[in-house]
Amino acid sequence: SFKAFVIEDADGKPKGGFKHLTLADLPDNDVLVEVAYSTVNYKDGLAVSGKGRIARKLPMVAGIDLAGTVVESRSPDWKQGDRVIVNGWGLSETVWGGYAKFQRLKPEWLTRLPDAFTLEEAMGIGTAGYTASLCVDALEKWGVIQPGGKEVLVTGAAGGVGSVAVALLAKRGYPVTAATGRPETHDYLGSLGATSFIERGALSEKGAPLQKERWAGGVDAVGGQTLVTALSQTVYGGAIAACGLAGSADLPGTVLPHILRSVALLGVDSVMAPQPKRDAAWTRLARDLDKAHLKSMYEVQPFDALPDLATKILAGQIRGRVVVDING
Ligand code: NAP
Repeated sequence: SFKAFVIEDADGKPKGGFKHLTLADLPDNDVLVEVAYSTVNYKDGLAVSGKGRIARKLPMVAGIDLAGTVVESRSPDWKQGDRVIVNGWGLSETVWGGYAKFQRLKPEWLTRLPDAFTLEEAMGIGTAGYTASLCVDALEKWGVIQPGGKEVLVTGAAGGVGSVAVALLAKRGYPVTAATGRPETHDYLGSLGATSFIERGALSEKGAPLQKERWAGGVDAVGGQTLVTALSQTVYGGAIAACGLAGSADLPGTVLPHILRSVALLGVDSVMAPQPKRDAAWTRLARDLDKAHLKSMYEVQPFDALPDLATKILAGQIRGRVVVDING
């Protein structure tokens, strides 16, 4: 048997705890993966602590991210020894997730891990880093950001998505302005390649619908007034890739940047992103994410620490990203 973190029904409420499972307990999907690492995201914090109803059926193995090695496969696309990552696709909601030493998954949910990364590093990047990469892909595809050109804005810069976005953009030569509420992170963000900083409060105040054109583009993890301000300061024809709601899910703006300046709001979702987009995002990460930068972004914690980590992430006491060592 092996250890897993399972959410079960306790008098009508979701309650999580460690349990021992056997391979026979796992869902009957075509690829058996030995999980080496998972992560703790905010959504995991809600699921593990029982503070949020993330699982839509019980019992549920939690964990929205996993990295591991294929042990058995009934699919021609995967063979024993393949190194894979899985995130999204309903993991921890409707599909058993990464907090277990073994998991059975559908072949189409698996992404091949580029050789450049260890399994640990893959989870250092995790959903947050891969989403940042999707955002940079979206901006480049839009074609408005130029190496050495006008500034590209990253909001929530010191967070998981933001940090990786800063590093990826800087590596390709785009000048990056990092918006953060934590001035103590300027050195860290500067080391990742940010060239200018803006206090996050400067973007969260309501302003005119059209302001001085500052940003060729942007990656927004914050939403709400911050996103609206970013749009109102984007150059003619520019674009903001929006992926998060760390500040708010509202969009309290006007259509003016869009209809008078052809500014685009590019929505970015990671959960149901089709496999070619995932592969492109991971290829960018392998090419552009400096290993030393990546190391500075995450810490590794043992599986047993999960309940404590869940409480901490909900309380905003986690810096950067947390990798969970399933064998630790
Ligand atoms: P994170 O590590 O917690 O970072 C979020 C950052 O946002 C914080 O570090 C902070 O940056 C900033 N922030 C937090 N509260 C704020 C507020 N009230 N006003 C303004 N800024 C605030 O989270 P993450 O993993 O990077 O995820 C960021 C967002 O993206 C989340 O909303 C997450 O749900 C979303 N997300 C979406 C997808 C998708 O598929 N679309 C995938 C992954 C994540 P500073 O400390 O620098 O100010």
